[in-house]
Amino acid sequence: MTGRPGPRPLTLGRLLARGLTRRCPLCGGRGLFRGWFTVRERCPRCSFRIERRIEGHWLGSLGMNTTVSFGALLVTLVVGFVVTYPDIPAVPLMGVAVGVAVVVPLVFFPFSKTLWSAIDLAMRPLEPDDDVDPDWLPPASHHEP
Ligand SMILES: [Zn+2]
Repeated sequence: MTGRPGPRPLTLGRLLARGLTRRCPLCGGRGLFRGWFTVRERCPRCSFRIERRIEGHWLGSLGMNTTVSFGALLVTLVVGFVVTYPDIPAVPLMGVAVGVAVVVPLVFFPFSKTLWSAIDLAMRPLEPDDDVDPDWLPPASHHEP
C-alpha cells in the first residue's frame, strides 16, 4: 500500500450505504456505470465484479427492483384512495399509478444493481475467484463467525 490506511471493515451498514449510493460495495468507489442502465463488469478502482460469478446473481437485483416498484405502486394507490376518499378520481389516479409503475423501476435500476451486490457481498464473503485488487481486501476479522 502507498501510505494510505487499509480498507475499512465491511459492516452491513457501510455495505448498504454504498449500495444505496451506487458505489462499489467493496471499496466505495464510483464510476460503476457507463450510463444509467449499463453497469461495468468490474469496479474501476478495486476490480470487484459487480455481478459476481454465481448462477442467477442478476435475479437478486431484478427481484429487489420489482419489490420496490410494486411497493411504490401500492403506496401510491393507498395514499391516493385515502386522500381523495370518498370521491376517488379513478382516471387521474390510474394515470399517476401508471407513471409510478413506469418511472420507479427505471430510476431504481442502478441502485438495485449496487444494493444487491452489497447484500450479496454481506452474505458471501470474497473468494479468490473474485480476483479483486489485494489492496482492497477487507480486514481479516470481517466475515469470520
Ligand atoms: Zn471497488
